[in-house]
Amino acid sequence: MKIMKFGGTSVGRPERMHQVKDLITRGDEPTIVVLSALSGTTNALVGIGEALAAGDKALAKGRIDTLHAHYLAFYPALLKKEFTKAKAEEIIREHFEFLNILLKISFNEAINRDILAQGELLSTKLFYTLLEELEIPAVFLPALDFMSIDENSEPELGKISEKLTAILAKNPDGRLFITQGYICKNHKNEVDNLKRGGSDYTASLIAAAIKASVCEIWTDIDGMHNNDPRIVDRTRPIAELSFDEAAELAYFGAKILHPASIWPAQLYNVPVRLLNTMEPSAHGTLIKEKVETTGVKAIAAKDGITAVKIKSSRMLLAYGFLRRIFEVFEKYKTPIDMITTSEVAVSVTIDDLSHLDQIMAELQTLGTVEVDQNQAIICIVGNMVSETKGAIKSVMDSLVDIPVRMVSYGGSRHNVSILVDAKYKVQALKSLNDGVFTWNN
Ligand code: ADP
Ligand code: ASP
Ligand code: MG
Repeated sequence: MKIMKFGGTSVGRPERMHQVKDLITRGDEPTIVVLSALSGTTNALVGIGEALAAGDKALAKGRIDTLHAHYLAFYPALLKKEFTKAKAEEIIREHFEFLNILLKISFNEAINRDILAQGELLSTKLFYTLLEELEIPAVFLPALDFMSIDENSEPELGKISEKLTAILAKNPDGRLFITQGYICKNHKNEVDNLKRGGSDYTASLIAAAIKASVCEIWTDIDGMHNNDPRIVDRTRPIAELSFDEAAELAYFGAKILHPASIWPAQLYNVPVRLLNTMEPSAHGTLIKEKVETTGVKAIAAKDGITAVKIKSSRMLLAYGFLRRIFEVFEKYKTPIDMITTSEVAVSVTIDDLSHLDQIMAELQTLGTVEVDQNQAIICIVGNMVSETKGAIKSVMDSLVDIPVRMVSYGGSRHNVSILVDAKYKVQALKSLNDGVFTWNN
């Protein structure tokens, strides 16, 4: 079986949904199709939740009506027959009635997550109606029946696999299955989600859960590019990446993939392909266990980073000091991204600030603590970077005009991480693009 995931832009217009229908019916391998919400919908739902959280019901109502109008204009262009149009009308009526009811009750976080789930529910139901109209046999797989996370918001891969396998076994003749990306149930059995961009994660988790032959991520660009195409003018797609390289790029800010979306596929060695719905014949990017290509391949940036420096003369020649520092972060479930050490100081970076005050208070018992907010990690990724002559030199030469706060090199063979003030992020990405890659023109 294979997985085909389509992102927001790929389903964001009626004609695009028709294209998706063509792509999923091309081959003969049974396929699970994972769909995101139509582009713009999740942002709109976030806006509705924010208005409700602020107690501004008029604003929430206005936002619900605008989104409703979008769907009322969408379905007549998607469908032709009266019976399927009536079905679509009913689907839209039901979901917007739900949103309107929320205007009348008191708001809480669980309700907010219910709001956020509406986008994927709508897109999959409308797409399924299109398949019905075209008499393409398909099975509707509600993600909330099998996709779950535990109390730490970590996906429960074992349970997901068990439930999904049982559901699939009940449909032995099914060739096409349609399910929602992003949404799941949490340990309280409430509706929850896998965080923004989470449909990629859903696809990879399903791929791992059923040990799929391939996990195809269909989006609006021809694969992972060597740099962020939203920031840098001249970028190019990368033909192949290892799981480790792709995971690093996703985690450190390449928006094309959800930060955690590689590990499930990697766990069961399911190749991941990044493909372009608008240009299906483009090669895209193949992500697999081992690759032959070496050298620096791509750069990504993650902002919203905070650097924490702990300085203490007690660290000199002492053991156990790092453990005490790490224990503080562990206690507050705050992951550390980068770390550099000197004889008397340690600098680490974090992006989750929810417990910063408590962390600071505890670290102050170990030494002097300094915090720099608004930093960005620039991550330079490739294969055998540390063995590639001149790689680190070209990175450093490209950054001569930028103050570098931290450098992490040699932790793995495929990564150099640099920490700079976020105001230098764009400049750093641009100069690295010119200095690190070879361009023919
Ligand atoms: P989808 O809605 O299909 O999930 P996303 O918007 O989440 O699509 O991801 C695709 C977008 O990611 C591209 O349009 C591109 O602007 C952005 N992007 C950021 N960094 C990269 C990169 N290194 N390579 C390719 N795309 C990138
Ligand atoms: N619709 C969700 C979002 O916009 C999930 C996704 O698109 O992957 O974040
Ligand atoms: Mg995405």
